[in-house]
Amino acid sequence: MAMANPTVVLVPVWGVGHFVPMIEAGKRLLAAARGGGRPLTLTLLIMPAPTEKRASEIADHIRDVEQDSESSGLGIRFLYLPAAPAPPPAAGAGAGYSGPEEFISLSMQQYAPHVRAAVAGLLCPVAAVVVDLFCTPLLDAAHGLGVPAYVYLICSAAMCALLLRAPALDDEASAAGGGGGGGEDAQFGEAVHVPGLPPVPPSCLPTGLVDRTVPAYEWFVYNGRRYMEAAGLIVNTVAELEPRVLAAIADGQCTRGVRPPPVYTVGPVLADSTPPAAPPAAEQEAEHECVRWLHSQPPRSVVFLCFGSARFFTAEQAGEVAAALDRSGRRFLWVLRGPPARGEKMFTDGDLAAILPAGFLERTKHRGLVWPRWAPQREILAHAAIGGFVTHCGWNSALESLAAGVPMLPWPWAAEQHYNAFVLAAGVGAAVRVEVDRSRDSFVEAAELERAIEALFGDDGEEGRKARETALEIKAACWKAVEEGGSSLASLRRLSDALHQGAVDVLPASQDSEV
Ligand code: UDP
Repeated sequence: MAMANPTVVLVPVWGVGHFVPMIEAGKRLLAAARGGGRPLTLTLLIMPAPTEKRASEIADHIRDVEQDSESSGLGIRFLYLPAAPAPPPAAGAGAGYSGPEEFISLSMQQYAPHVRAAVAGLLCPVAAVVVDLFCTPLLDAAHGLGVPAYVYLICSAAMCALLLRAPALDDEASAAGGGGGGGEDAQFGEAVHVPGLPPVPPSCLPTGLVDRTVPAYEWFVYNGRRYMEAAGLIVNTVAELEPRVLAAIADGQCTRGVRPPPVYTVGPVLADSTPPAAPPAAEQEAEHECVRWLHSQPPRSVVFLCFGSARFFTAEQAGEVAAALDRSGRRFLWVLRGPPARGEKMFTDGDLAAILPAGFLERTKHRGLVWPRWAPQREILAHAAIGGFVTHCGWNSALESLAAGVPMLPWPWAAEQHYNAFVLAAGVGAAVRVEVDRSRDSFVEAAELERAIEALFGDDGEEGRKARETALEIKAACWKAVEEGGSSLASLRRLSDALHQGAVDVLPASQDSEV
C-alpha cells in the first residue's frame, strides 16, 4: 500500500491579516515540496473565532481555499476544533486584556489540549505543527506527541530578532534597575540594541514591549523565549531585504550566543486580502474605479495613502492630511475611513462631507481622489502612476509596497507598526521618515506630512532619491527570491526536506491522552 504523504499542521489565529498569509505560505510550501518531488499535504486546525465578524471573514476565506484546493489538487483540508472557554485576563475578569499578546497567548493555553487531540487523531505521518507568532503555548501539544514544532512569523526578520532577544533585554532592563515598578522604571530607558539594526528608540518598540509592568509584556517575552524550542522559524521576509539582521540571528547575537533554530525566509508571501464585506456590485467589475483613475495619471506621480484593515481618521487628523495635500500640490489617492459607530470597534466608510474640510474635494478634484471604502491596495501599488505610499506599516502592506518597488512614508499607529516604520526607514532604507506623535494617537501635523511628501517626491532631496532607488532594488530582489534559484524558493525547499525528515507517525496510544 502506498504511504500517505506527510501532513503539515497549521494552526492559524483568527485575524485575517494572520490567517490569510499563513495559508498562503502553506500553499507555497506545498508547491515547493511537489516541485522537489516529495509532496506534503496541509491540515488546518480552525479554532472558533472570538467574534461573528471574524468568523464570517474566515469562513469566506476557507471556502475560497477549499475550491482552489479541489480544482488544483493541492491537498489542503480543514479540521474544526471545539471551542475553548475564553480565558480571564490576568488582571481579573472584567478588567480587559492588556494587549493581543496576552489574549492570544492565554487562549492558546486553553486550545493546546484540543490541538493535541486533533493531531493525535491524524492517520497519516505528521511532519510538523506550525503555530503563529504569539501562540507558543501550543508548542506543548506538539512536544507531547513528539512532533516537530515550527513558528510562522507573518512579520519581519527584525521582529523575529526582537522576540528572540526579548528575554535578554528583559534581564538587562531588570539589572539596570527597571524592576517593573511603574513610572520610568517600567520602560526601556535608552535605545534598545537589536543586533543587525541601528539603535532602536524605545518610542519605536511594538506595543507589547512598551510597558514592562503589563501582562502583554510578559507574554511577549514568554513567546520569544519559547522560540528556542522550535525546530525552525519561518519568516515572511526576503533574505536580501534584511541580511544583517538575519546574519545576527543565525550567529546567536540575539540569544546570548546560543544559536537559535534555523530561520527559513519564505517571502514575500503576498496574500490576496478580501474586503471586510462584499463590495458594491459596481465595484466588482474587472477594473476598480481607483485603478481606472490611475490610468490617467503620469508615471510615479501619485501619493497613495492607505492604512490597513483597522485604522480610521478623525476629522481633526483628516484635516491635517487635507491641508498637507492642499499645499503640496501633488496628485494623490487617499483611502479614508471614518470613526466607528457608537459602541463599535471597526471603522466605517468615510463620510467625506463630515470628515474633510469644506471645499477640499472640489479644490483638488483635478489631481486627487478620496476613496471612502476598501480599495484593491495591491493592484494600486503595482500601478505605474504610484510614486510613494503613506502607510500604517502593517507588514503585509510594507511587503506589498516593496514588491511593487514603491518607496514609503511610514505613518504607524498600533501593534508593531512603529517598529516596522523604524526598520523600513533606518534598516531597509526604502522609506523617508515621518515625525509621528505616538503620545497623541500617532498624530501627524500637516506641515510634517507636507515636508515628508516633498522629501520623497521632490527632485533635490538625497533621502528621497535613496528611498526610491532602494525600493526599486528591493523589488527586483523580491521577485528574484521566489524564482528558480532564488533565496526564498531555496529556503522553502530546505524547509520541505526538513519536514520530510522530521515526519513521525503519531503513536496510537497518544490518541487516548488528554483532551
Ligand atoms: N488592504 C486592502 N485595501 C484596503 C486596506 C487594506 O487591500 O483598503 C489590504 C492590504 O493590501 C494588506 C492588508 O489589507 O494586504 C492589511 O494588512 P497589513 O498587515 O498591512 O495591516 P493590518 O490590516 O493587519 O493592520
